[in-house]
Amino acid sequence: QAKEAGRNAYVVFAEWMSDSAEQQFRLLADLRRAIELNQLFLQYQPKVRVSTHQVSGAEALIRWQHPEQGLIPPDRFIRLAERSGVINDIGRWALNEACRQLRRWHDAGHDTWSVSVNLSPIQFGSPHLLQEVSDALEIHRVEPRRLVLEITESAVMRDTETSLRLLQSLARLGVGISIDDFGTGYSSLLYLKRLPATEIKIDHAFVRDLENSSEDVVIVSAIVALGHALDMDIVAEGVETAGQRAYLERLGCDFLQGYLLGRPVDPERFMQLHDLPRPRMVVASELQASQG
Ligand code: C2E
Ligand code: MG
Ligand code: MG
Ligand code: MG
Repeated sequence: QAKEAGRNAYVVFAEWMSDSAEQQFRLLADLRRAIELNQLFLQYQPKVRVSTHQVSGAEALIRWQHPEQGLIPPDRFIRLAERSGVINDIGRWALNEACRQLRRWHDAGHDTWSVSVNLSPIQFGSPHLLQEVSDALEIHRVEPRRLVLEITESAVMRDTETSLRLLQSLARLGVGISIDDFGTGYSSLLYLKRLPATEIKIDHAFVRDLENSSEDVVIVSAIVALGHALDMDIVAEGVETAGQRAYLERLGCDFLQGYLLGRPVDPERFMQLHDLPRPRMVVASELQASQG
């Protein structure tokens, strides 16, 4: 986190980290009840396919509407949830909620969309995860390949053999496996080769300065080459400018995510914004913007 302290989002995060022990204790007590009180909800950020400029799916991002404190972002409560074990309940809730939403979208005609759900390393250590995932798919009648599980490098590195076995079981279910925040952890390339991942998400740290940093250009193109050689899709996250997008497209990324393509929004809004495939008026202007 410290290394990212230059970015606004993380400066705010740093402030929040100074929640006192007492504040955290109260927050945790509230968090334990947040699910049953319907205070948690998911927002969805579009994932756009470069080759078609169409939305291919959404990443589900959790939020907490706290009765007194207002909207609390995940960076402020996921860690707390992890330390207390509440993350297993929250994670199960998020998985089911995302699958329920995907079913609604499919029923509304968006049947090619996928949904990506973030998993905590703690959930990854749970013996129930595999069953929970297959239950969620079954209950909400979601095709496995339409669900993508996002895990961070650190999560898969933690306990390599057990993690590898769990990942392989998940992969056998047919769900997508995405390595989130790629490049910020401690990936061993040897290990990467053994992962049944379907996707690599290039961390926004490498996207941010792409237009001015030849080093970042080299890193991104190396990740693209590596991922493609291992038969994985490449997603770039944190795309904010047309210039970044132009670079990422030229460097061969398959999917883009970021405020330029769309912010995380409520599911109803997501449908309004990204309605059934049709010529989108914005495409032409977006193209001009990225060329200009
Ligand atoms: P992440 O999975 O890497 O998600 C990307 C984060 O970047 C999200 O922050 C998203 O809102 C933000 N973002 C997207 N586009 C842009 C952009 O163009 N510029 C900038 N500056 N930021 C952008 P968010 O929603 O606050 O989530 C933060 C992290 O919290 C996520 O990082 C993920 O690790 C975790 N998280 C979110 N939802 C869940 C969940 O349901 N379960 C678990 N375990 N973790 C979650
Ligand atoms: Mg993610
Ligand atoms: Mg990420
Ligand atoms: Mg992240």
